[in-house]
Amino acid sequence: MRVLFVASEIYPLVKTGGLGDVAAALPVALSELGVDVRLVLPGYPAVMDAVSPASTHLSWHILPGVENVQICTGTMPKSGLPVYVIDCPRLYRRDGGPYQDNYGSEWGDNELRFATLSKTAALLGRPDIAHEIHFRTDLIHCNDWQTGLIPAYQQYLEGCQPPTLISIHNIAYQGLYGAHTVPALGLPWDSFSVQGVEFYGFLSFLKAGLFYADWINTVSPTYAQEIQTPEYGYGLHGLLSHRKETLSGILNGIDEQQWNPSHDPHLIASYSIDNLAGKELNKNALRKRLRLSEENPKKPIFGMITRLTYQKGIDLVIPIIGKLIEEGAQFAILGNGDKHTEHQLRELAQAFPQQISVTLGYDESLAHQIEAGVDIFLMPSRFEPCGLTQMYSMHYGTIPIVRKTGGLADTVTNITPSTLDNGTATGFVFEHESPDILLQTALQAMLLYRNKELWQQLQRHGMTKDFSWKHSAEEYLKLYNKLVYEF
Ligand code: ADP
Repeated sequence: MRVLFVASEIYPLVKTGGLGDVAAALPVALSELGVDVRLVLPGYPAVMDAVSPASTHLSWHILPGVENVQICTGTMPKSGLPVYVIDCPRLYRRDGGPYQDNYGSEWGDNELRFATLSKTAALLGRPDIAHEIHFRTDLIHCNDWQTGLIPAYQQYLEGCQPPTLISIHNIAYQGLYGAHTVPALGLPWDSFSVQGVEFYGFLSFLKAGLFYADWINTVSPTYAQEIQTPEYGYGLHGLLSHRKETLSGILNGIDEQQWNPSHDPHLIASYSIDNLAGKELNKNALRKRLRLSEENPKKPIFGMITRLTYQKGIDLVIPIIGKLIEEGAQFAILGNGDKHTEHQLRELAQAFPQQISVTLGYDESLAHQIEAGVDIFLMPSRFEPCGLTQMYSMHYGTIPIVRKTGGLADTVTNITPSTLDNGTATGFVFEHESPDILLQTALQAMLLYRNKELWQQLQRHGMTKDFSWKHSAEEYLKLYNKLVYEF
């Protein structure tokens, strides 16, 4: 099985969220199952620096008015996976994030940047290029809106093209652009219709992918159902329910090399299910690092590591922080995003400097230390395609409180007398989007925290769950086989 895996970010080179983690781990897990996976990535500075390009013998004209792109072939630093890097300095070589500048504004030419990624990937997959790149693509795996035009461009290539799978990591981001971009992106006007790339008068990268791809997948079974409803579908529920026979959900795994309390270089002490003493040491170290009061070492710390957006439900947390602090809780919050929310959090940290620490920004090392050092992890998301941090939490013996949605519903089992009894309880699951309900759930968690025996039972259940990528990769391989051999 030969697969082109196309992504707009990849950990540790460029990452804004879960997609970066998936792009780093899933291809490796697939190659361990014998799949010949090749990555296709934009030539951001970090990618150009890290990938050792072996040759740059292809130079293609991709879009009107954009210079030729060079296709560099090389290998990824650690995994050694082969990669095609699209070198186009005008589009990709700049400071800032993959989608935004240093001030948080979207790059003004994202449609050109990701149409170039999409069209190059479509061209790399052509059967008649196989002899030139020494790779005959069986399937193209697209990820999120940035790659949504791949199957659209394929419609206009001659001959039979490899099948495409598009994975939705977050349906809220769709890549919507004005109709005038249609010719600029080299698409014919006849593609701009309901039966094509058009979406309520706009060109939608994601809708294009969902319309033309052979199969649609998302990152949890529950989210696959939810996005077929108006509440979660962000306008695409009609198309998705129409395509429900070719839509599935496969849970993400976690990279247990990167996220493992028994050998995590970011921690001051290792620990495991058989010896949880190290977790306590990490808790003390976290308190010191974040200058949280050490007066009541037995009180629980709540943690959050998150993009500060409406999706993540941080506005449900802010109103209850004061009440939980009164009850003796402390908070370690790491995140960035919405400026108003950042401001509110900063104010709370000023009001309770010894009880709440807020770190605004992106800090990989602190993220590991929070997972290890806190007792309870808050993830009250309004929607959550899969979510990784709740799985990291369970792996680190930290008990998650999650809202019952998407991948959170699929990975966390609510504590009840029977789930405690049969060894499946791993956290607290609540349903309604309300600060009061969240407060009640958090208070229940604080109560249970006092019962060391039950708490440790809960920790053990979470720590023994198998969240490895192997299982997910096997599911993807089954899907690839179906698409390549049965479609
Ligand atoms: P999403 O992809 O919606 O942002 P996920 O839970 O799937 O949410 O993945 C988030 C990933 O990004 C996790 O690896 C998490 O540790 C990381 N992350 C999010 N915010 C930060 C931050 N401010 N600093 C460090 N890591 C972060």
